[in-house]
Amino acid sequence: MADSPHSDPKTPLARRGLMFILSSPSGAGKTTIARKLLADVDGIGMSVSVTTRAMRPGEVDGRDYHFVDQPTFDRMVADGEFLEWATVFGNSYGTPKAQIKAGLKAGDDFLFDIDWQGTQQLYQRMETDVVRVFLLPPSIQELEHRLRSRATDSEDVIQGRMDRARFEISHWDGYDYVVINDDIDSCFSKVLTILKAERMKRARQTGLVDFTRELMR
Ligand code: 5GP
Repeated sequence: MADSPHSDPKTPLARRGLMFILSSPSGAGKTTIARKLLADVDGIGMSVSVTTRAMRPGEVDGRDYHFVDQPTFDRMVADGEFLEWATVFGNSYGTPKAQIKAGLKAGDDFLFDIDWQGTQQLYQRMETDVVRVFLLPPSIQELEHRLRSRATDSEDVIQGRMDRARFEISHWDGYDYVVINDDIDSCFSKVLTILKAERMKRARQTGLVDFTRELMR
């Protein structure tokens, strides 16, 4: 399924891009939904963050993250190169400003996988460009089941993840939309509906000024 970045392909009015933040406690299906959005929908790409954490097997520099050392990250902070940045699990993560600002102007949408601290910072700085979506598991039992079936982690690790998940869930009211993920297809369809509606917001359709002027001539 290909989907036009514009509200109607026959009248492709210029549009400002948006920042689509998809958050969830781990195990609630965020990765699956994010992958499907990127694969199935035109006009949206991942925002690639900068991080100081070590590269994991299978990760690619420039695709998954821009991997840098701490002095480089600190210099980027000092030079104001980030829209937001945060320390998560002892590593630094930040959203580079230049690529996002240029992309939004060109009508590109960005998908963000950032934590709630980053979400708050982005919202404070770029409120009208930000769309915040939070995915919830259907129940805490189901979340635990998903976390347990994932890997052969020790009980301590599982309990640590459950505590972290409860903490993340406690930030549910800092989002514009909350979707319960009890079924991947129906959850995806709801997330897509949100994206489509947000793309059509008047404030994002920058081409409307000229278009309506022409209609009223
Ligand atoms: P990981 O190291 O497992 O890829 O990510 C760890 C955490 O860092 C996740 O919660 C992820 O959402 C968050 N994260 C990744 N990039 C950024 C970023 O640019 N800014 C912020 N605030 N959080 C990020």
